[in-house]
Amino acid sequence: MSFSSNAKEELAGLSLGKRCCRRAETAAMVRMGGTIEILSGGKLGLRFDTESLEVARRMAALIRSLYHVQGQMTMREGRRLQKKNSFQLHIMEAGAAASVLEDAGIHLSGDWDPEAPQLPDGRIDRPCCKAAFLRGAFLAAGTISDPSGGYHLEIAARDEEMAQLIVRVLASHALRAHTAIRREQWVVYLKEGDQVVDFLGIIGAHEAVLAMENVRAEKSLRNQVNRQVNCENANLDKTVDAAGRQMEAIACLERIGALHRLSPALREAAELRMAYPEATLQELSEAAPGLSKSAMNHRLRKLVELANQYRKGEGES
Ligand SMILES: [Zn+2]
Repeated sequence: MSFSSNAKEELAGLSLGKRCCRRAETAAMVRMGGTIEILSGGKLGLRFDTESLEVARRMAALIRSLYHVQGQMTMREGRRLQKKNSFQLHIMEAGAAASVLEDAGIHLSGDWDPEAPQLPDGRIDRPCCKAAFLRGAFLAAGTISDPSGGYHLEIAARDEEMAQLIVRVLASHALRAHTAIRREQWVVYLKEGDQVVDFLGIIGAHEAVLAMENVRAEKSLRNQVNRQVNCENANLDKTVDAAGRQMEAIACLERIGALHRLSPALREAAELRMAYPEATLQELSEAAPGLSKSAMNHRLRKLVELANQYRKGEGES
């Protein structure tokens, strides 16, 4: 199972929450995945499409709790091998279907403008409802890439207005979303690891947050090891002049995070060497008041020695 479908399954299993939040979540799902159907006899119906059985079931439970109607579930098998099964929840009672649409900001009365259906922000002005709204949008039209590859979460909206609404709600949670138009859809996306984690936390996918944090921790450990290997491979021996050797050693200690743990005296020598790459020993010692040339020499040699020791230690382990 993908990271995305795992997260959705987790979310679909959360408690339905307060009535205000249930309405916000349902409205988002209708606006992102709902289709108006005209049933036999010209009756109005509503269909909700999803690739996740768990999401279809959650939607059915939300509709049942809010509108007291039992939706009907159908399944369509994927035609080709790669095509997934899809699930449909049908609301066949015209009165209930109209109420669901109305609450999602899709008004079927005479003044309804199909080009600009409004989802009244007032319905989602509480923080709890905003989180529920984002959860609904993600469940109906969201995907998240596997964090071992990269960090990308997106929600595909059907129109610009809905995309902008999602961006606004995300911004109210301090999430900076980007938008793009792809295959005639407005895609709202987050691409930074911290932002994706925050989003998952806000919508209640706490297991997904833990899973993602684990992957991130592993990655940062791997990066650290890579930095150490880089240090090991540094051309310490190839550098002929003393200043170059000292600077390579200091850069090495810096990369492995050892520099800030050194004594203030050694750190001062390191900072001076890096600040004045061309300076002679004499000039460097003059830049550090009260320090003799031999003391400066001693400190710089100590830095090179520490970097070498580190390299040796690495080789042995
Ligand atoms: Zn609420």
